[in-house]
Amino acid sequence: MPIDLHAHTTASDGSFSPRELVIHAQELGLSAVAVTDHDTFGGHEEALAAGAELGVEIVPGIELSVSDEHGKFHLLGYFCNQDSELNRELAAIQYERANRNEIIIERLQSLGFETSLEKVRAIAGEDAQIGRPHIARSILGQQGLETIQQVFDDLLAAGGRAHAPKKVLSPARAVELIHEAGGVAIWAHPLFPPSTRQKMDYHEAEALVKLWKSWGLDGLEIYYGLYNTKDSEWARSMTEKYGLLGTGGSDFHGITKPNVYLGQVNGGVSMPESVLEGLKAFSAK
Ligand code: AMP
Ligand code: ZN
Ligand code: FE
Ligand code: FE
Repeated sequence: MPIDLHAHTTASDGSFSPRELVIHAQELGLSAVAVTDHDTFGGHEEALAAGAELGVEIVPGIELSVSDEHGKFHLLGYFCNQDSELNRELAAIQYERANRNEIIIERLQSLGFETSLEKVRAIAGEDAQIGRPHIARSILGQQGLETIQQVFDDLLAAGGRAHAPKKVLSPARAVELIHEAGGVAIWAHPLFPPSTRQKMDYHEAEALVKLWKSWGLDGLEIYYGLYNTKDSEWARSMTEKYGLLGTGGSDFHGITKPNVYLGQVNGGVSMPESVLEGLKAFSAK
């Protein structure tokens, strides 16, 4: 049966609640799905309960935002112990995120936009971790801004008029924290850096694979919703060349990413169960 090891819920920026995600996985005939929300373990409990009820194996994961002089990246951690320094670090990050959201909203208000924390929270949903996409939605249609992208370009991206920086981990520290928590550290979608529209070239990405491997990276995604066949082959060749584990998944977000489908990778194929077996075997070592 097919599986998916990369999916988001309303605990971060997905549009499906953890339970809805599991129901969707069951409907699609997936035997396992990983919950990998951004910087939070918040979706695990509900997903695990639904998984037990509906007969879908839930793989606990997290997707950490990291950045250093090479750029911004996403790093997946699987099977992390929540009673860990990682979790304490995440609490600090979440605290700073809340402060940052307030700063951005105040800046928008002083630029004449009609928005508020209450309005943004109503858009995001009660349990969600609020982020810039939610804030962007709260001012859509105002001052001639018609799309989320326009709001980012003008206001919320680095250099934008209402931008405020966010505390992030370095990749090296994130790998260390995942390992301290007993987890497996996987570079998510290596060719697709977050928050930019430009795909990385293979040589640039390979240099980073080498660097990250020296920091203890365990593996990378060899299957991905937006990979084409060549990208996937490149990623697989990296795992062979550098002795890394290969994992992957769709990066399903529900309506937040309408072109990405649960259980579908590399432009529309499914992923074999053996990938999860490989991850578990690695984790048990
Ligand atoms: P935040 O967690 O508040 O920093 O928001 C991060 C999210 O904002 C990312 O996951 C993207 O969905 C979105 N985002 C970040 N930068 C941009 C950008 N330049 N253009 C469009 N969306 C962006
Ligand atoms: Zn996301
Ligand atoms: Fe990501
Ligand atoms: Fe993701």
